[in-house]
Amino acid sequence: MDTEHLITNWNTVSQQVAQACTQAGHADAEKVTLLAVSKTKPAAMVAALAKQGQRDFGENYLQEAIEKIALLKDDEDCAEIVWHYIGSIQRNKTRDIAEYFDWVQTVERDIIAKRLNEQRPLVMAPLNVLIQVNIDAEDSKSGCQPDELSALIGTIKNYERLQLRGLMIIPAKENTDAFMRTQQLFASIKEQHPELSAWDTLSMGMSDDMTDAIAHGSTMVRVGTAIFGARD
Ligand SMILES: *Cc1c(COP(=O)(O)O)cnc(C)c1O
Repeated sequence: MDTEHLITNWNTVSQQVAQACTQAGHADAEKVTLLAVSKTKPAAMVAALAKQGQRDFGENYLQEAIEKIALLKDDEDCAEIVWHYIGSIQRNKTRDIAEYFDWVQTVERDIIAKRLNEQRPLVMAPLNVLIQVNIDAEDSKSGCQPDELSALIGTIKNYERLQLRGLMIIPAKENTDAFMRTQQLFASIKEQHPELSAWDTLSMGMSDDMTDAIAHGSTMVRVGTAIFGARD
C-alpha cells in the first residue's frame, strides 16, 4: 500500500470514529482514542501516520515491536508516539514489555502484573495497565474470568509502578451483547472502587465493529485492517 492510500484510510477511520462519537452523544471525539494496530506492518508506515498526527500504536509481537520502536526512536515525527502492547504475555517477556511500552492491555493474572511492576524502570512513568477480561467465559480464550476480576484489581491497584486504567476485551464473533455487558462491568467497577483515580479506559472495538463498540461506551478502538490493509 502506498503512503497516500494509507493516509486516506486513516482519515476515513478517524472520521468514522468521530461520527460514532457524535452518534453516541459524546461531547467531543477526543473521548475515544484511535489505536492504530501496526502488527506485521513496516516501521515506515507507522512513521507516515505519526507524521499526520496519529499518536497511539498497538503491537502484538514483542520482537517485531522492539525492532520498530528502536528504529523510530530518533525520528522527530515519532517523538510523541505512545506504544501499546496488545499481544499475549509470556512470563519471561515481561521485562521487555516493562522497558519498551507505555501501555499494556493484556494483563490477565497477578504473576504477570507483579513482574511488570518489579521490572518497570524507575526513570519511566508508571506503566498503564488494562486488564483483559474473558467476557464470554470461553475456555479457549485468554483473559481474566469476570468472577476473578475483583481480586485481581485488589492486587494490581497496590502496585506503585503500574497505573490501572481499565478493561480490554476481544469478544467472540457470535456474541452480540458482549459490549453491553462489558460497559456495565466497567461502570460497576468504577462505582465500587472510587479509589481507582485513573479508571478511564475501556478498550473494545476493532475494524469490523468499532461503531457498535463506541455506542456501548468504548473509549479506545483498536484498528488494524481498516487502516493498514489486510495482513499476510
Ligand atoms: C490484530 C488486533 C486488532 C486489530 O484487528 P483488525 O480487525 O485488523 O482491526 C485489535 N486488537 C487486537 C488485540 C489484535 O490482536
